[in-house]
Amino acid sequence: MAGNWKMYKTPAETNAYFEAFVPLTRDSGHADIVICPPFPALATAVAAAEGTAIQVGAQNLYWGREGAFTGEVSGPMLKAAGCSHVIVGHSERRQFFGEGDAEVARKAVAALDAGLTPIVCVGEKLDDREAGRTESVLMTQIAGALGAMSAAQFAALVVAYEPVWAIGTGRTATPQMAAEAHAIIRRECQRLFGDEAARLRILYGGSVKPENTPALMAQQDIDGVLVGGASLDPQSFAAIVNY
Ligand code: PEP
Repeated sequence: MAGNWKMYKTPAETNAYFEAFVPLTRDSGHADIVICPPFPALATAVAAAEGTAIQVGAQNLYWGREGAFTGEVSGPMLKAAGCSHVIVGHSERRQFFGEGDAEVARKAVAALDAGLTPIVCVGEKLDDREAGRTESVLMTQIAGALGAMSAAQFAALVVAYEPVWAIGTGRTATPQMAAEAHAIIRRECQRLFGDEAARLRILYGGSVKPENTPALMAQQDIDGVLVGGASLDPQSFAAIVNY
C-alpha cells in the first residue's frame, strides 16, 4: 500500500502526519506500507518511521550516480537517505516533464542498481482508452520500461497501473476495468519474463479512497494500491491500508 504525496507537505507537516498515522497502522502486518514524500521531507519521514514497519520512498530519481546534473537526485543518494522505494515514470513525470519509456527504463535500472525498489508506473490516457488502445499502450510501456531487464532485475520491482484519466480526477477505474488492465500487464510480463511474472506485485492507482479499496483489492491481479490525494490524510490512508 503506497502513498504518493506528490508536491505536498513540509518536514513539520510530515512529523504531524506520522504522529497520527503510526498508531493507526501499528497492527497492519498484512501489508507492506510505503510513503513517498517530496525530497525535502524524506529525512523527516525516515526518522519518523524508525521502529515501525513503514517504509519510505522517493517520487523520482536521476540515473547518474553523481555529477554535474543540477537539480537532480541519484539512487545512491536516496538509498543513503533511508529510502527503500522510488516511484518511476509517474504519469505526471511523463506529462509535465517529458519522460518517456526510455527514461523510465534507465531510471528503473538505476534504482535497482542502488538497491531501491522501483515502482514503475504505466497507464493509458483517456483518448487511448476511448480509441480502444489500452492494451497496446500498456504493452508498449511495459516492454519499453522493462524489456531490456534481466529476470533478476524484473523480480525486484513493482508495477503500478495508473490510468491517466483516473489520477486526481475522482474517476476511478471500475474494479473490472482495473482487473483487465492488470491481467494485460501480467500477460506481457509473462511473455517477457516467464513464470516470474506470477510473483510480480501490480498496484492500482487512480482516485483510490477508503470506500473503493475493498472492491479493488478483491480483484485477483490487484496486489496493492498507489494512492495520491487520499494518502495525504493519515486517517484516510490508514483506512485504505486496513481495508
Ligand atoms: C497518484 O498520484 O499516483 C494517484 C493515483 O493520485 P490520486 O490517488 O490522487 O488519483
